[in-house]
Amino acid sequence: MIPYGRQHIDEEDIAAVVEVLKSDFLTQGPAIPAFEHRLAELSQAQFAIATNSATSALHLACLALGVGPSSRVWTSPISFVASANCVRYCGAQVDFVDVEAESGNLCISSLRHKLELARATDTLPDVVIAVHLAGQSCDMQQLYHLSHEFGFRIIEDASHAVGGSYHGKPVGCCQYSDITIFSFHPVKIITSGEGGMALTNNADLAKQMQLLRSHGISRDEADMTEPSHGAWYYQQLQLGFNYRMTDLQAALGLSQSNRLADFVRQRQHLAARYGQLLKELPLDPPDVPTDISSSFHLYIVRLHDKTRRKAAFDALRAAGIGVNVHYIPIHTQPYYQQLGYDWGDLPQAELFYERIISLPLFPDLTESEQDHVFSTLRAALS
Ligand SMILES: *Cc1c(COP(=O)(O)O)cnc(C)c1O
Repeated sequence: MIPYGRQHIDEEDIAAVVEVLKSDFLTQGPAIPAFEHRLAELSQAQFAIATNSATSALHLACLALGVGPSSRVWTSPISFVASANCVRYCGAQVDFVDVEAESGNLCISSLRHKLELARATDTLPDVVIAVHLAGQSCDMQQLYHLSHEFGFRIIEDASHAVGGSYHGKPVGCCQYSDITIFSFHPVKIITSGEGGMALTNNADLAKQMQLLRSHGISRDEADMTEPSHGAWYYQQLQLGFNYRMTDLQAALGLSQSNRLADFVRQRQHLAARYGQLLKELPLDPPDVPTDISSSFHLYIVRLHDKTRRKAAFDALRAAGIGVNVHYIPIHTQPYYQQLGYDWGDLPQAELFYERIISLPLFPDLTESEQDHVFSTLRAALS
């Protein structure tokens, strides 16, 4: 079976992890700050906080921005459920903004319309979580303008988009957001096994996320409510979590980050080749605006005829091609239906869902495997 995504592990990655195994620290050692420093540098952000998953990082980001039971947070329905679940962890209300038909990213005009309605009823969101679907950045400049006009904060869920860029600057630089999140799950662009990272240029947000990542405990006397009792002393200042990354994970992530640019280049090359192969077929391939560089975590095609999606999907799977669908709209999941959402609420997202198939895309995908995907899909759609 050709999977839809697959990690690339080389001898250097293995050596980096083995080195940690032989060292003094399996966790809370030097590999974590080294990995954080590398990602901050690559993304041109000031602060980076490594976590045990992007889901944890999203939770910390919400908490650092003060999301609590009385808050409202909006996000995209075309995402992995974690983009919305992080809001629910804080006890806050989540709502969904419809997406653009082409990219599946949050639609700026739908957002503006929804914001105007919310202003009239005094129910504006506190935070908007923008998801860069498949590695293509949302229109961050427009989102940023709206955030000033309507007074909300911005988290970028860039789980798909490490290595991509927007208007010439790397995703993660937080030029138009408060916090950006990356995921290092094995199907993503670079991996640490499991892992995530939060990037920000705001020292207070960075400090809050660091504190909450490790139980809300500080060893810094400047934070304490009374003089230190001695070198052993620490204080728990808030209710935090154990969301720490291990050094084993950080060493793998750091080693992988050496090849980030190569991975993205290879993904872009394969995506361009798919674009050439698929152009005669009755489907729309991804169409990335010229001012955006997608890291192509996913290659999502939209069939012209949604009624043929299931048969095409089944034919690809039967031919040993591990296609997938990204994503089932979050608001239609039973958990979110229980909160009052339903089919019909977000028509563009639902139509997007009905048309899409994610084709295999990862750095080691060969051209002959790609040709096999193309010919199988062509036969299935003819
Ligand atoms: C993978 C993913 C996450 C969650 O990442 P984990 O590291 O597995 O917690 C969140 N949001 C999106 C859009 C994702 O694709």
